Amino acid sequence: MGNILFWFRNDLRVRDNQALLQATSEGKVVPVYVIDQRLFGPSGLGFNRTGVFRAKFLLESLAELKNNLKQLGSDLVVKFGIPEQELFKIAVDFEVEKVIASKEVTQEETNVESALYQKLKTQNIEIDFFWSNTLIHVRDLPFQIHFVPDVFTDFRKKVENAWRVREELPVPEKIESPAGLEKTEVPTLHDLGFNDFTPDQKDLNQFIGGENQALCRLNEFIWEKDLLKTYKETRNQMLGKDYSSKLSPYLSLGCISPRTVYFQVKKYEAERVQNESTYWLIFELLWKDYFYFIALKFGIRMFKRCGIKHDLIKTWKRNKEHFKMWMEGRTGVPIIDAVMVELKTTGYISNRGRQLVASFFTKDLNLEWWWGAMYFESQLIDYEVCSNWGNWNYIAGIGTDPRHDRYFNPIGQAKKYDPEAEFIKYWLPQLSEIAASDLINIAPLENIVTSGIDYPSKAIPKNKRW
Ligand SMILES: Cc1cc2nc3c(=O)[nH]c(=O)nc-3n(C[C@H](O)[C@H](O)[C@H](O)COP(=O)(O)OP(=O)(O)OC[C@H]3O[C@@H](n4cnc5c(N)ncnc54)[C@H](O)[C@@H]3O)c2cc1C
Repeated sequence: MGNILFWFRNDLRVRDNQALLQATSEGKVVPVYVIDQRLFGPSGLGFNRTGVFRAKFLLESLAELKNNLKQLGSDLVVKFGIPEQELFKIAVDFEVEKVIASKEVTQEETNVESALYQKLKTQNIEIDFFWSNTLIHVRDLPFQIHFVPDVFTDFRKKVENAWRVREELPVPEKIESPAGLEKTEVPTLHDLGFNDFTPDQKDLNQFIGGENQALCRLNEFIWEKDLLKTYKETRNQMLGKDYSSKLSPYLSLGCISPRTVYFQVKKYEAERVQNESTYWLIFELLWKDYFYFIALKFGIRMFKRCGIKHDLIKTWKRNKEHFKMWMEGRTGVPIIDAVMVELKTTGYISNRGRQLVASFFTKDLNLEWWWGAMYFESQLIDYEVCSNWGNWNYIAGIGTDPRHDRYFNPIGQAKKYDPEAEFIKYWLPQLSEIAASDLINIAPLENIVTSGIDYPSKAIPKNKRW
């Protein structure tokens, strides 16, 4: 049997990993993950492209993967550098016949694929890609990529009418590797240029990366705590651990596959209860798929200023001071500031929170929308390229939202989703003495966003302002 280089990407798991299973069946496997140094550099906006929350989660996920691979008789070689260069070196050193990996669809990721392909070609080494990241396999879509419906509901209905989810694949029984795999350690945060980091006590999630952790959370959410049966009612909440699945960081790095989640939902439906909530988790997984296929369809347009819509007329303000106030949670609108403080403190915010602050950024502050997307990219523990940039396009009104005038009014939203200002007060304890009705009624006025830290005096007594 020849050697195969297995390149781990956003598929950091041994279960339901078609590419890995294929590699083990074809030869002796050299499993490698390369931390791309380019993704740890500056964003050009005053912060690094990858922030500490995601970096920590990635390192934990790699450590767990390494252990799991060891238990299967192999190991994980972890490198820091330029993936196409590092992978090429290893491929040549081990005289591999082939490189196998999961396919990605967005610009930077496919650039790496092409660069590696070019290098491997000079040595006559093949590269095979497998489709791994979506619930619905790309080949099972009832349309060609060019015809992916732009509107989510159309996409969903067509997919549901031709419903097919492929079976989950087992963990390989054993992974045989060639002798002489380099012994590497998973780097520390320090190695990646971060300071020591202790998660904040106020963080109610305390995410830890890794495949086993993902399976634990899935089990807890669905079976132990029985939260799936009420998910549709709780999913729009903002405070706590259990109102939603909190699987996104795991799904984003591929510590768990959407199919594994799906088949657990199906099992739960068969054994406990089938209702709107059980359906809704699958519905949300379809949103994830949708943005993935939209990214594949529109390619680079998702990252351009004019967005998927190619809107060249819309203008955006480049006000760095407002950008800073938004990032730091100092806009003067409590519900917005509470979400932004949570993001800065924990790296995770609810879906409702994301919609609110992205809408505020693009519709109230009118700022250059992609700055906000870049900040999310850096800060979110669950950053995933298609979901993040697709959702930002959508909310900025230059994406695939069929409603042109969608606006999340902070007052209406706070009244509906934080009527007692519990969430606001949790993240902004300096406002704890102020009546909830005052806190949720502060509108995004021009004087607030220009003066920065001044809330209307009628709502917040002078000595309570920060
Ligand atoms: C501006 C903006 C940026 C976002 N950026 C990201 C991102 O970088 N990574 C990311 O995973 N999600 C992103 N989302 C989607 C969504 O907010 C998160 O997936 C969700 O809040 C994660 O929490 P959960 O796992 O508890 O979600 P649950 O409510 O339990 O949903 C289950 C799963 O469905 C998927 N999902 C749910 N809602 C969406 C959605 N709107 N779009 C795509 N997938 C969805 C996620 O994989 C999620 O884990 C973004 C949303 C907005 C509005």
